[in-house]
Amino acid sequence: MPETPLSLLNRVFGYPAFRGEQAAIVDTVVAGDDALVLMPTGGGKSLCYQIPALLREGCAVVVSPLIALMQDQVAALQELGIAAAFLNSSLDGATAARVERDFVSGQLKLLYVAPERLLTPRFQSLLAEARIALFAIDEAHCVSQWGHDFRPEYLGLSALHERFPEVPRIALTATADAATRAEILQRLDLGAARVFVASFDRPNIRYRIAEKTEPRRQLLDFLAEHTGEAGIVYCSTRKKVEETADALKQAGLTALPYHGGMDNDTRRRHQEKFLREEGVVMVATLAFGMGIDKPDVRFVAHLDLPRSVEGYYQETGRAGRDGEPAEAWMAWGLQDVVTQRRFIDEGEAGDAHKRIGHAKLDALVGLCEAASCRRVALLSYFGEASQPCGNCDVCLNPPTLWDGTEAAQKLLSTVYRTGQRFGAGHVIDVLLGKTTEKIDRFGHSQLSVFGIGASQTDKVWRAVLRQLVVRGLLEVDHSAYGALKLTQAAKPVLKGEETVMLRAIEARPARKKSRLAP
Ligand code: ADP
Ligand code: ZN
Repeated sequence: MPETPLSLLNRVFGYPAFRGEQAAIVDTVVAGDDALVLMPTGGGKSLCYQIPALLREGCAVVVSPLIALMQDQVAALQELGIAAAFLNSSLDGATAARVERDFVSGQLKLLYVAPERLLTPRFQSLLAEARIALFAIDEAHCVSQWGHDFRPEYLGLSALHERFPEVPRIALTATADAATRAEILQRLDLGAARVFVASFDRPNIRYRIAEKTEPRRQLLDFLAEHTGEAGIVYCSTRKKVEETADALKQAGLTALPYHGGMDNDTRRRHQEKFLREEGVVMVATLAFGMGIDKPDVRFVAHLDLPRSVEGYYQETGRAGRDGEPAEAWMAWGLQDVVTQRRFIDEGEAGDAHKRIGHAKLDALVGLCEAASCRRVALLSYFGEASQPCGNCDVCLNPPTLWDGTEAAQKLLSTVYRTGQRFGAGHVIDVLLGKTTEKIDRFGHSQLSVFGIGASQTDKVWRAVLRQLVVRGLLEVDHSAYGALKLTQAAKPVLKGEETVMLRAIEARPARKKSRLAP
């Protein structure tokens, strides 16, 4: 009996059935056609090229940027009795030479290579000698120059198609927004590929996004709901990673820092501990996580905003890969948005890149401000329609909205009357009708807006201001010490042509942690 994809899945991998679109993807590649596979982490991308590799003649060449993951995969394949090997910088010369020989002489079914190795003249000549079953390009979003995993070597991968037009290619990624997808198709020259998009929903992850008030306290409260569980706390800077890890240790937690500024040995030690021991909290920058395959991560916390919705999805996606309930928690504030806008504006990138950066940030802020289901908002960003999930903070605890039109008008008028030259603190002082040295100096107690907001608290005004900034009615001018300025979007509100619904800020009683419904 000749082998079929299903018989291989049963016999070699020990699984009874394909999941989702795996069977169709396998058929496409076995037939010699190109495929682009967008599937969330844990969805089962590897089988999509491993089974065609076994069914087609020759050796599959798998391009992967992650050395650690390569080694794990190869070890797992060898365990199953499959002739697999990898070539990367971790091998000594003799071993590498042996792998190369096996490759050329047709002893291998799968060869994993790092992209920089693949493009060397030496490897290119090996490719000419060997018989190639297919090219698999893993983590294909690394070709996207707008993404934060960009690898310049990935741009060279389109050459594979030029040299070996008859060899099918399968590109795989867990990053699925339309822009990245288009970029992958274009840059890898995959125009004729069949595109497979799996559902990106991770139903066992509960999403919670809180307003940042006392971040340290809020984080500790969140972690108290996850005592003894393993998880990741993401921070945006190395310094904050160190400080947060220290604070968690002092609070009695098993916390370890991880960031790109630490030496390799320490990093590896911390990573090992996180993987092998129970209940370790890894406090990390983005340097940690890509390719970390730990199924029982019970939570991912963000103390700072990620850079985009994709980033948020990728990072939170490291929780609950075993399918058991897990939580994604984030605290964010206006300052995060302001800082990131400044990063984008002050960056070296060209205008087009900056515009994309701002649009991506806007989308993320939209998710944070969402007054309806977070999951619906998240999935719709990836072009996927869904129903309110019942397993996010908004579904479980809908925010109270109030008509903030009048408050918005008062605040916008105050910004305008004070000349669009002052920051949040002064504008709110004028609204509240305070007497300060600055108000005296500028004669602002003479303005018609002085004290028009006295019936509300400072805290309410800060919340209103934050929401107006994140919605783009006000902007913060970094070149003028954080002065607030009106945007075009403020006009219809000031003219009374548009209502502004705002989220109420009063703290609601914390809910008891409820388990997922079956
Ligand atoms: P990804 O690369 O998409 O993150 P993997 O290929 O690592 O996901 O697969 C995730 C897990 O799911 C692995 O443990 C894999 O063995 C398992 N898996 C994949 N496909 C199937 C299937 N059809 N049946 C059962 N388990 C599967
Ligand atoms: Zn929901």
